[in-house]
Amino acid sequence: MAAPHHPPNPRKRVLVVEDNPLNMRLFSAMIAAEGYEVLEANSGQRGLELAQQQHPDLIIMDIQLPGLSGLEVTQSLKADAATHDIPIIATTAFATRGDEETIMASGCDAYMAKPIAISQFLELIEAFMAPAPHAAACSA
Ligand code: MN
Repeated sequence: MAAPHHPPNPRKRVLVVEDNPLNMRLFSAMIAAEGYEVLEANSGQRGLELAQQQHPDLIIMDIQLPGLSGLEVTQSLKADAATHDIPIIATTAFATRGDEETIMASGCDAYMAKPIAISQFLELIEAFMAPAPHAAACSA
């Protein structure tokens, strides 16, 4: 495998919680291309379990999920001392200004509207992966 252009050492892991297979493939490929290991969950329940078991470095959280929603999963993770420090970037296709406030109030650290802008998505991931305390604020 070719060395990533900025090798994380040890390899950092990103959990993608996304029920749309095309979005999952897109997010997963982009994140892997950055040199990170990708964990995939196609439901909120599975995302919650993987986050608890694997404690990834970052979570990309779809809000609209069957069963447990992304908001519910986020609230659970942020209420648990074992997982509350994991940054969560929410993604959703249906967001009004009010929705965005609800999303941020659930504990998400940043928010991106779908369809996502790839360069902005990757910049946001890098901001949360940086060794310095993350001060990332997403304006999307
Ligand atoms: Mn969805």
